[in-house]
Amino acid sequence: MTPVLEIEGLRLALPDTARPVLAGVDLTVGAGETVALVGESGSGKTLTSRAALGLLPRGAMATGRVKVDGADVLTMNRGALRSLRAGTAAMIFQDPRAAINPLRRIGDFLTESLRVNSGHSRASAQARAVELLEAVGLTSRVLRQYPHQLSGGMLQRVMIASALMVEPRLLLADEPTTALDVTTQAEIVALLTELRERFGTGLLFVTHDLGLAAAISDRVYVMYAGLVMETATARELFVRPRHPYAAALLGAIPALEGPRSTPAAIPGQAPGLDVELPGCPFAARCAHAVERCAAEPPPLVDGVACHLVPGSVHG
Ligand code: SF4
Repeated sequence: MTPVLEIEGLRLALPDTARPVLAGVDLTVGAGETVALVGESGSGKTLTSRAALGLLPRGAMATGRVKVDGADVLTMNRGALRSLRAGTAAMIFQDPRAAINPLRRIGDFLTESLRVNSGHSRASAQARAVELLEAVGLTSRVLRQYPHQLSGGMLQRVMIASALMVEPRLLLADEPTTALDVTTQAEIVALLTELRERFGTGLLFVTHDLGLAAAISDRVYVMYAGLVMETATARELFVRPRHPYAAALLGAIPALEGPRSTPAAIPGQAPGLDVELPGCPFAARCAHAVERCAAEPPPLVDGVACHLVPGSVHG
């Protein structure tokens, strides 16, 4: 499968922090593939996805390689970044109300990119907007409405239609269903899956919801403290996690079926950016840690970064 996103050894350092926020991330997304990026808050998953659009925090120093459809994002000038964001890659944000100008009609919001960046006439941009609104289950009536006249679920559909207006090769979805109720969440996930198949778009789905990641993705990357801890197919990861952190995350999900049991919380907290991590970043919270773990960082070998793997720590 041709990769539409290739991230190699991505390190991101911010001023006044003791360790990099991303410490050497490797990740790929193939055309037509859905890849989930999961982990607790502060693990670096959002920064990793934003790096694909060259959206880095102010003052950040990035090294490594981030390629979208073969073009290196980290070396792009402003013009190239603008065309990347207006054509090859698009992002759906967590809160659609924060991403759409409340003073403009949905029609203007949807068609602007095609009219301004791609030279489409108003009529052809509008025709494309109607086509995509129908694809996401909305009618052309929405074009004349303002954001405050739509529900959260409808606005997120508008965001998805907006992201697809330019037929991106790569779609980045950053917790796109977190602000929605459960029924609308399910509808949005089904819609993303259908659209990905129809348009052959590569989808990077950022979420802290492991159940959702299992339902939507082909492959999963589990991140912790700016590093990939485990990567596997969704089935492999959820049936037999190999990394202690992935196993602990799964153990913390409440069971909806079978005998009643208390989910096992992961002890301690994720390390802050003021803490140096000379060894395995999970060592302070890991039930399997040995002396070596606090001193020596485990490399990612065969999809797992743990000194004690190969062999499942879960089974
Ligand atoms: Fe736990 Fe050590 Fe493996 Fe880190 S390297 S996950 S501390 S066993």
